[in-house]
Formats: sequence, C-alpha cells, structure tokens
Amino acid sequence: MKRGLFLDRDGTLIPDYHYLSDPRRIELIPGVADALAKACSLGYLPFLFSNQSGVGRGFFTLETVHACNLRMLELFGLPADFFVDVCLATEHPDDEHVYRKPSPRFILEMVEKHNLEVSSSYMVGDKLLDLETAASAGARGAFVKTGKPFTEEVRFYTEEKNMGVFDDLAAFVDHLEKQ
Ligand SMILES: [Mg+2]
Repeated sequence: MKRGLFLDRDGTLIPDYHYLSDPRRIELIPGVADALAKACSLGYLPFLFSNQSGVGRGFFTLETVHACNLRMLELFGLPADFFVDVCLATEHPDDEHVYRKPSPRFILEMVEKHNLEVSSSYMVGDKLLDLETAASAGARGAFVKTGKPFTEEVRFYTEEKNMGVFDDLAAFVDHLEKQ
C-alpha cells in the first residue's frame, strides 16, 4: 500500500510570510530539499497541502500561488512535477470550508485517487490545524518548529494524539528513516 506525505507549505517547507504572493521573496528552510528527496526514497509520495485564503480574499490569483510553488521547487533543485498532487484550499475563511484545513476532505480525496493507506500517511505542518487535519482524516500528524510557535495548546494536542514534534522537516524525515 502506498503512503502519502501531506506537506504544509508556509512554515514547513519555506519560511512563513503572511500572504506570500511574490516568487522573488521565497527563501529556503535549510535541509528541506534533501529531506523531501529522502522521504521519496523511503517510499512516501509527496503532496503539497496549503490553505491559500489570499486567493479567496482577492489578494492574489491562483496563478500567483502556482508561480510561488514553482519557484520554491526550483530553489529546492526539484522538478516542477515533484508533488504527486497539489492541494490548494482557496476559500475565504468566512465562506463554507470544504477543502480548507482542518477539513479532511483533500486528504480523503487523495487517499481515494492515489490508493493510499491513510493510517500510515502523514500530514506535516507548523499549526494546530495541520494536526487537526491529520486526525480528522485518520492520518498521522507531525509538527515542525520552523513556522508558528510551538504553543502549550499544540504541545497538549500532540501528546494527546501521540504525534511527533520536530525541529524541522529534516528531523522528521530522519525519524521516518529510523522506523
Ligand atoms: Mg503553515
């Protein structure tokens, strides 16, 4: 059975800039590119999972988001088609949330579409809502400390749900390798 690695973008793969819309502003988090390649070699299929309410708010277009994603992969030295699928939730926060994290909808659709084993797939992110997305889909969750603060609320949640907390994506993938 195939395993998915559902990756939050901002604060997990690249530094979290509020409403990132300029590809020239993208910087890297050290070790992420190697970690992504290593995760693939361990048999995990990479998916990009990002809430992009800036689109729903009319701040920028979906094309802008794709341009930023492309630039990110270019900086990583990875091919433009690296992600098996790209799951962008563009809803305005005030609208009904269908795909917006913590909705499990995207994960469940990817599981169906790509025949993944959800219980051995991971959602990795820097916010409580990433972990909630994992839990509500029946996937595993992991928190990385490269974005939003590791709060008491997050600490309590990860302990309750038996989810790992890592300094960065590289440390998380090292953990996967040891399993
Ligand atoms: Mg994030």
